[in-house]
Amino acid sequence: MRGCTKCGLEKDESEFYRNKRFGLTHWCKPCFKVSQDTRRRDNPELWAIRARDAAKRHYWSHHEEAKERLRIKGATQEFRKYQNRWKRTPKGRVHVARYNARRREVTKNDARLSLEDVHRLLHLQDNQCSACARTFTDELPYTLDHIHPASLGGVLQEGNVQLLCGSCNSRKGNRVEAGGYKLG
Ligand SMILES: [Zn+2]
Ligand SMILES: [Zn+2]
Repeated sequence: MRGCTKCGLEKDESEFYRNKRFGLTHWCKPCFKVSQDTRRRDNPELWAIRARDAAKRHYWSHHEEAKERLRIKGATQEFRKYQNRWKRTPKGRVHVARYNARRREVTKNDARLSLEDVHRLLHLQDNQCSACARTFTDELPYTLDHIHPASLGGVLQEGNVQLLCGSCNSRKGNRVEAGGYKLG
């Protein structure tokens, strides 16, 4: 048994995630999930960048195998069959090929930053919110802000991004404001 430092409950060790470096986590799985869901909801852009970075790392650590699979006879036909399938999403059944094409269109103008860019920005801003100058911590996490708002065609890329704390970000809303830090 192990106590969760978040909810305070005693749970079986299988109820805790195991970290390669640090062993068992201090929070139980359900507590981890809640905290992750909150962070994902409050900071969707950063989440997207992290997800894309992880996908890229995954791809490059497996790309030899992936290439090998492609070389296997019939892989193309298999792929066509897959593309012609329908799959279930929260919004109902979709045609895979059409769905993927639409996703590409939607995400084309999404984050063009890498996690490294975000860290550089964090360094440039001295780890502070560029509006209220409070230092970012676990309790005051940074969020990515489009200087020229996304709803007005602003793209999340170099020169149009700054790090704000959550409250400054929601206060700013759709206005074009503040200096913004240029990368590079
Ligand atoms: Zn817990
Ligand atoms: Zn702030």
